[in-house]
Amino acid sequence: MTLFVTVLLDKGLKKPLTYKVPDSMQSLVKAGKRALVPIQKRSAKGTILELLKKAPKYPVKEVLEITSDEIINEDLKKLAQWMANYYATPLPFVMKTILPGSLRKDMKKKTQYMIHTVLRGEKLIAYTASIREKYPKRAAVLDILLKHKKGIFLSKLLEEKVSVSAINTMVKDKILKKDLVEVDRSVLADVPFFKTSAKVLGTEQQIAFDAIEASLEEGAFKTFLLHGITGSGKTEVYLQAIEKALSLGKGVVMLIPEIALTEQTVERFKHRFEEKIAVLNYRLSDGEKTDAWNNIAKGKIPIVIGARSAIFSPISNLGLIIVDEEHELSYKQIDEMPCYNARDIAVVRGSFTKATVILGSATPSLESIYNVMEKKYEYLQMNSKAVAKNPPTIKLINMEEEREEGGKGFTMLSQTLLSEIKKRIDVGEQVILFLNRRGYFSCQVCTACNETISCPSCDSSLTYHRGEKVLACHLCGYEKKAPITKCPKCGEMETLKYRGPGTEQVERSLHAIFPEIRTLRMDRDTTKHKGSHETILKQFRAGKADVLIGTQMIAKGLDFPLVTLSAVIGADSSLHIPDYRSTESLYQVMTQVIGRSGRAELPGLALIQTYYPNHPVMQAVVKEDFKNFIKTELADRKLCNYPPYFKISKCIFTSTDKVAAEKTAENFYLYLQKFLGKEVQIYKPMPCGYAKIKDKFRFQIMLKSKSTNKIAHLLAHHTIKIPNKVRLLIDIGATSTFS
Ligand code: ADP
Ligand code: ZN
Repeated sequence: MTLFVTVLLDKGLKKPLTYKVPDSMQSLVKAGKRALVPIQKRSAKGTILELLKKAPKYPVKEVLEITSDEIINEDLKKLAQWMANYYATPLPFVMKTILPGSLRKDMKKKTQYMIHTVLRGEKLIAYTASIREKYPKRAAVLDILLKHKKGIFLSKLLEEKVSVSAINTMVKDKILKKDLVEVDRSVLADVPFFKTSAKVLGTEQQIAFDAIEASLEEGAFKTFLLHGITGSGKTEVYLQAIEKALSLGKGVVMLIPEIALTEQTVERFKHRFEEKIAVLNYRLSDGEKTDAWNNIAKGKIPIVIGARSAIFSPISNLGLIIVDEEHELSYKQIDEMPCYNARDIAVVRGSFTKATVILGSATPSLESIYNVMEKKYEYLQMNSKAVAKNPPTIKLINMEEEREEGGKGFTMLSQTLLSEIKKRIDVGEQVILFLNRRGYFSCQVCTACNETISCPSCDSSLTYHRGEKVLACHLCGYEKKAPITKCPKCGEMETLKYRGPGTEQVERSLHAIFPEIRTLRMDRDTTKHKGSHETILKQFRAGKADVLIGTQMIAKGLDFPLVTLSAVIGADSSLHIPDYRSTESLYQVMTQVIGRSGRAELPGLALIQTYYPNHPVMQAVVKEDFKNFIKTELADRKLCNYPPYFKISKCIFTSTDKVAAEKTAENFYLYLQKFLGKEVQIYKPMPCGYAKIKDKFRFQIMLKSKSTNKIAHLLAHHTIKIPNKVRLLIDIGATSTFS
């Protein structure tokens, strides 16, 4: 019987093409392999999607070559198709997201020369001694090889400044052997291994684990929402669930937000399992990614830990998927199609492979809470600390009152906060300060005409960075020398004032107040270089600073036993962002910051500076009343048809030509109105929250609906001509109404 295959080309076409498989390749062909196929007068590479037993009704050409091992397994193929439909994205774009770019290039394995000795042990020692006088250079090479019984890479050997001709001669004389070997660039380089053993679970942990264990044993698809306060021991539950999955011969994928994917986190996992673990993050090179992918696909590695895209790892027999900090917005891809949410993909993929899915968080998203209410997820709760600890006392500081007492107008650091910091420095305890803005001041405003100095390419004000003496755009990276003394609009001199303090200013103010203070700052400015993130954390853990000041980055799963004070300096400005999710995000980040203090034996204190102490979100945080927060927030969302009750979809039109972008959006809006029924609310095109980024004007159409199937189908098959200079981005299940 002759087989036919559908092949999805890497470039160009949106639909897979059908080819005939020549007899010689019948035994080689398999879905998921790569193939070279003729197209028009040339050839092109692609991935085999399906095998067909029936010839198509039209004549087709033959496959030219089948090139590599299987790179994509059955459930990933199914997932790709699901994503194409759900996110209204052509399959090739989905495949591009799923497969590491390097893989599609059919990258060659890295190979290197390995040098071995033919003689071993005593014989080699004797031989070396016998030639030492006559051929000292050759003997020098052998001396090194005596220390490398398993051989040494030629490149490494040459680093020892030995003679190349001595090596070549001995290879010719068959004293040495030189082989070309494949080298793994995988990041699984052997780390010293100290196995930790499973802890005896606490009561709540045991209840959670029992439910998960039962699900793993049953082998049916099930999703758990593990709602556990910081320090309740979620990680220990994950570890034991992974152990169980491995004992049942199942593969595991665990997602951790990129910024929490630190050495400290990963080591907790590496030290528990003898099995190999692949860690996938953006810092890997193309080669490392390819090797990791191949090793996972071949079943050499049963556990993958990684950020967003690790959900596409080709783990076979996938039986357990864990998404830690499931509420994190970094799981959502927003700037490129498919605009997928890895948390949601985890659940879909789990349903395909009959996996147990655990979504864990101290502050679950409203979507997941809603899914529990709808009985789609099973709820597991852990309300007490795994190790008895002094829970932090939480206090709100009313900044309006501070301002009046201080009598100096605006204050950034309240007297209460300063005196608590002082107490900590005096006894050698540590402090974490959270601020949602990096830089020194977030903008420079003219007091004469109210003009804000903004980026020439973006709809965004420039942030003053005092250290570098620049005004910088946080959207595109544009920089301008600072300070500016003359207003570019009204031309007045000396009228420009700075507004909105950032992390850099907090750091300087602290030094001015406490000259002896030692600080570290962690934000995007101080973590530009590879490894700097880890370095700062290590220094802080080693007690090299009293205070760690930072943005979001410091709020994530870090465990510092000496931290007894954590404070939110200014976060309530985010309440002014017109986005349905700002309150939820604020609640989450404040709760995380609070969780950073009092992790060890020392009692903790958490302070929140706010201008709105009576705002429901502030009250919920200080009372640790998640239930009440959920209740009020869900009521608000319901009233306005926002998620989780309705889904938001966005069509974003961008172009350097403002008129073209707006006009296309208008046409598209009319089209959608015509074809979508009353069950979908469509909003007129509007400029996006950031109306311009990098000289591109941005317009959006927002849609609200209970289900997105119909919208996605229409968007995938629309007949509106989008001009070349306009780009359309479709975001189904948008996590923001603003950006
Ligand atoms: P979470 O991830 O929920 O914030 P962790 O898993 O980091 O909490 O646990 C907090 C601390 O409690 C860790 O130091 C961990 O080693 C410890 N821990 C967790 N479970 C247990 C247990 N059953 N027995 C003893 N210590 C535990
Ligand atoms: Zn800019």
